[in-house]
Amino acid sequence: MIRQFIQRLGYGFRNFMVGRYGTDKLNMAILCAGLAACLVSAFFDNPWINLLLTAVSYGLMIWALCRSFSRNTYKRYQENRKFLQFFDRLKDREHRYYECPKCRQVVRVPRGKGKIAITCPKCREKFVKKT
Ligand SMILES: [Zn+2]
Repeated sequence: MIRQFIQRLGYGFRNFMVGRYGTDKLNMAILCAGLAACLVSAFFDNPWINLLLTAVSYGLMIWALCRSFSRNTYKRYQENRKFLQFFDRLKDREHRYYECPKCRQVVRVPRGKGKIAITCPKCREKFVKKT
């Protein structure tokens, strides 16, 4: 009886998730941040800070849920891609990233070369940056 019920529940859930986005690294990060906000709130006695952190924590968790149930998988995928890209850039100590002032193309240049003239690979716009 119970097994059947769980099986049906699992089937229902799979059915529900068809065409929906599911989870990704960005969602995990949002959930972790939500959990962290929840934990941090325990250290504050001030009811306002407590309330704020709890609200932030719920907000983040609801955001993560909305993302995983979203049917706009393309948009969610792009969000995750941008998030991963952002972290890759944070970790990258050997390069700096600049946005082309004309076409917004991101250009990667080596660090520590002083002032250099950068030519955008997309639109050939030239701009000077300190690296
Ligand atoms: Zn450009």
